[in-house]
Amino acid sequence: MKKQVVVIGLGRFGTSVCKELYRLGHEVLAIDTNVDRVDYLRDYSSHAVVANATDESELKSLGVRNFDHAIVAIGDNLQASVLCTLMLKEIGIAKVWVKARDLQHQKILEKVGADKVIQPENEMGIRVAQHMHSDKIIDY
Ligand code: ATP
Repeated sequence: MKKQVVVIGLGRFGTSVCKELYRLGHEVLAIDTNVDRVDYLRDYSSHAVVANATDESELKSLGVRNFDHAIVAIGDNLQASVLCTLMLKEIGIAKVWVKARDLQHQKILEKVGADKVIQPENEMGIRVAQHMHSDKIIDY
């Protein structure tokens, strides 16, 4: 079923999530404060908009409340990541998934209501190790 997803923060992680969701046929609204990153995603999203995701009125004017899923992919700016997550939950988005840079960040995000917290480097590291491990078993 087609989902309506807002992706906030278009670094490497947010860009990959956005492009893949769009390729899979979902409606994707891409948001970043960086004009170049937004421009790049114009062809790989339903809408790409320059906006500050810590500004509640900007988020509301973009119609974010109508989306059922949000991905917050702001890693370095802890304050922006937490504030944005809190606002998205207050606006009423059912599923808010957030990228965290470390465990401390993850704990704060869980406290403010993130539905899922992702640490991409950790998770990918585990997957790569498991992949290597299972290859070894097959080789043996
Ligand atoms: P990656 O590792 O995925 O490349 P990163 O964690 O290094 O990402 P950051 O530099 O933290 O990425 O930010 C990701 C994006 O979030 C950047 O493109 C940045 O412009 C954007 N961003 C940061 N703050 C805001 C904000 N308040 N509103 C919208 N976008 C923001």
